[in-house]
Order: sequence, then C-alpha cells, then structure tokens
Amino acid sequence: PAYDLATLRARLDGLRMEDNPALIRQKSRDFYWYSPVLKRQLAEVTADLVVSVASEADIVRVLAACVELRIPVTPRGAGTGNYGQAMPLAGGVVLDLSGMDEVLEIAPGRVRAEPGAVLAEIDAQTRSRSGQELRLHPSTYRSASIGGFIAGGSGGVGSITWGGLRDLGNIISLTLLTMEAEPRRLRLTGDDLARVAHAYGTNGVIVEVEMPLAPACDWLEVIIGFESFAAAAAYGNALGEQDAILKKLVSVIAAPVPQAAFLRHRSFLPDGRHVALVMVDALAREAFEAFTRRFAGAEILFRSDRLAPEEAKGLPPLYELSWNHTTLRALRVDPAITYLQTLYPFPDQLALVSRIHEALGDEVAAHLEFVRFDGKVTCFGLPLVRFTTEERLAEIVALHEAMGAVVFDPHRYTLEEGGMKQTDPDQLAFKREADPHGLLNPHKMIAWEDPAFDFSGARTYLFPGIGA
Ligand code: FAD
Repeated sequence: PAYDLATLRARLDGLRMEDNPALIRQKSRDFYWYSPVLKRQLAEVTADLVVSVASEADIVRVLAACVELRIPVTPRGAGTGNYGQAMPLAGGVVLDLSGMDEVLEIAPGRVRAEPGAVLAEIDAQTRSRSGQELRLHPSTYRSASIGGFIAGGSGGVGSITWGGLRDLGNIISLTLLTMEAEPRRLRLTGDDLARVAHAYGTNGVIVEVEMPLAPACDWLEVIIGFESFAAAAAYGNALGEQDAILKKLVSVIAAPVPQAAFLRHRSFLPDGRHVALVMVDALAREAFEAFTRRFAGAEILFRSDRLAPEEAKGLPPLYELSWNHTTLRALRVDPAITYLQTLYPFPDQLALVSRIHEALGDEVAAHLEFVRFDGKVTCFGLPLVRFTTEERLAEIVALHEAMGAVVFDPHRYTLEEGGMKQTDPDQLAFKREADPHGLLNPHKMIAWEDPAFDFSGARTYLFPGIGA
C-alpha cells in the first residue's frame, strides 16, 4: 500500500527520520535468517521510513500521526529477535527506540528503565550503584534492549533460578502507549502484564519497565565434560535441583557441537566430550566442587577462576555459548545448520530427550537449557538440525510433538504459530482496545486478521503479498 509519507514527514518535523533505503532495510531486519524458511519468506520485507525517538513525547507524536494517516508502526529495540518479530511486514514506520535508553531509578529490589536500555548497561548501573542485578536476561545481554526482551523474548540466563518472563513476579510493571488518535498511557501489573509481554509490540508501545532485581553475584564460569550425553543431562538436571547453590546457567550440549562451534574455548574441549556449561555463585565454589565429585566421570574442563591471563584473553562470556548463541556459533561454522525450540515437560524430561534423540540420530544434535518452572526443574531444548528441506524440517517438528515435546516453532513469524498454536484471547482483546485500527506490527497476530484460521491444519499463515 502507498502511505502518505509526505504528510507524515511534515507532522514529524524535528524528529530524526531515516529515508536512505539501504539503512531502512537494515533497520527492517532481525536475526530471521537463522531460519531457512523465514529467510526465503521475509527477504524482501522493508519499511518506508525509520523514525528514531528520544522521549515519550516523541512517541506520542509518531503514534498520533500514524493513526491519523493509517500508517503501520513496528517498534524496534536492538533488532536481535529471531523470527522476524521486529520486521515490518506491511511496510510503514519502524519506530527505533534505542535512543530511549535511560535507567530512571534504582531502589532496593527493583529498577525502572526506559525501553531502549541495553540489558548489560542496566546491570552495570544496578551493580555499581546498588550491588544488584537483573534476575534473568537473554544471551544477547550485551546488545538487546529491555523493551525488546519483554515484548519478544522469553527467558534465558537466570531462568534456572527464576523461571521465565511469563512467570508472575518477573516483571513488576510495564507502562505503554496505545495506538490511538490520542495515545493513552497505561500502567499494567499482575495478570494484565501477559497482554503485552511477548506480544511482539502488536498491542502497545512499552515506554517504561519496572523489573525486580536480585543480589548481584560474582558468577564463576565452569565447563564440565562427560563421556555420555545422558550423564551430562542427568548432571545438569541434578545441579538444577541444588537449591542452595546459586546458579545463573545450566546448559548441556552434545558432542561434537562444542568442539566444532566454540572456537575460542576449543583448547579446553577434548574430542568426543559432551559438556555442561555452568555459571554458579563464586561463594559456592567448594560446594559446587563437592557436588560435581559425586558424579563419576564428570571432569572439570574449564573454570574462569583458574585461567592464566593469556588464556582468558579473547574468551567470550560463557553465556555467549548458551541459549541461541549455541545456534549462532554452530551456524557460523556450518551454514546448513538450523534449529528448533522445544520444551520437555516435567517430570519425564530426561527420558523424553533420550527417546527423541535416539529416533533422530546425527541429523539433530541435542542442546538443553535447564530452567525452573513452577518450582520444578525441567529443560528447554534448542536442538541443532542439519537442514535438508522444509518438508523434512516440518517432519522433525511433528516427530517432536508426537513424542510429547512442546515445540515453539522458530520458523514461523506469527505469535500463534511460534507459540502455543492457539489464539491468546487476552492479547487479542487488548489489541482491540489499544490498537483499534490494527496498525501495530501488522500480520503478526493471526487471531486479529483471520479469526477462523485452523491451527491444527498443515497450512502456514502467510501475510498478504507473500508468494508462498
Ligand atoms: P527487538 O528484536 O528489537 O524486538 C523484539 C520484539 O519486540 C519485536 O516484535 C518488536 O516489535 C518488539 N518491541 C521492541 N521494543 C518494544 C517496545 N518498547 N514496545 C513494544 N514492542 C517492542 N531471547 C531470549 O528470550 N532468550 C535468549 O537467551 C535469547 N538468546 C538469543 C541469542 C541470539 C544469538 C539471538 C540472535 C537472539 C536471542 N534471543 C533470545 C532473542 C532476542 O535476542 C531477545 O529476545 C532480545 O531480548 C530481544 O531484544 P531486542 O531489543 O533486540 O528486541
């Protein structure tokens, strides 16, 4: 559709606008190319204009003008999302929030920040000013924004102790602006947070977040090696259950992925060894060692407190080998790799993992991320798939589901297909209220555009204008 950009520009006079097509294209992209399916489907997606804002008043101006002119708006933090979440499928405006990056208030137990604040920067301030840190963060900690994490992410480093963003208590409040002729400012708490958290910015622009903090720890990084994957997984699960050893990360990755993909850590990783990547409180050092000694065959291969200075040089933080950074590193050495996102439900998670990987063999390498959900330790999977065809990928997804794993399909750009494959009535109802013209990040919420869509069928939802 052709939008009245000339009038929009006039309305937004004084704001920073980018209309160089190459730069617009760049800001219309995220890490969608991880998926060979999305890479094909979304290759041509681009906005018409990028508008950068520095204050809430700026955002109000952009939203009001775009409602008046019926121009879509897609919010963007750092653009590190994985499924085209921040890609403007209907063109229009990309709203760049990276300039709204102030940490507004640090208090005992909580921090208030603007949405564009980068997670690592928030922690740097809460650590130095109050000895506290965020409970959880994605492995893109050093680049991602807090607003993008809440609107697009789910959990990550810290989830072994604190669960995910969806868990009540992991967000204190969100303040957002609605997409109306006169944008309203709403503050959400409690159950209402689920309307907007992980809604891809389809029903409001988050302008302020209030997050709980934990006491900051000195995190010891350790890699433990095992002869068998099952032993590594059992160790990870058992460490997850050690409530009195504070943990930030428990990842388990099957050989030969670590040896092939963790290039900077390569000298610490003997061939054939399956590994657990662990971040534990340095104060629990001896407790952790004692715990690890209980596992015959567990061998500590790497620890951050025993490195010579020249060994430490150039090593990325351990969390940048975990979560979707594992995928990124594997992809870099072998572009034919792609991945899935799965949840192996408690209490049979380890048996399920072993059955699925037995069935799939070398085509799919296991990668587990242990988490605590509702007081129970279980694991997510980010298994690495040797990609052949889209049909085979769909078969691998179906096999996971048939065997009892939940798949959050990273090869779909819609909220529903990437999530629980059903309408989220709260998010839909809130969109009716907060974005009555359907202008925020269009074509991402199927329930809004095609209420009759059959999620049980084999058909993928395709936005108008897409070929196949
Ligand atoms: P963006 O990509 O800019 O935006 C994400 C979504 O949020 C988009 O739909 C966008 O429209 C919307 N949005 C952004 N800001 C706002 C706002 N202020 N108001 C409303 N909507 C908004 N994710 C995890 O959860 N855990 C992980 O461990 C993890 N690891 C990753 C590792 C790699 C290597 C990569 C590439 C991605 C990973 N991700 C992970 C996904 C992503 O990095 C995170 O979710 C990140 O927090 C997104 O932040 P961002 O600022 O880049 O968001």
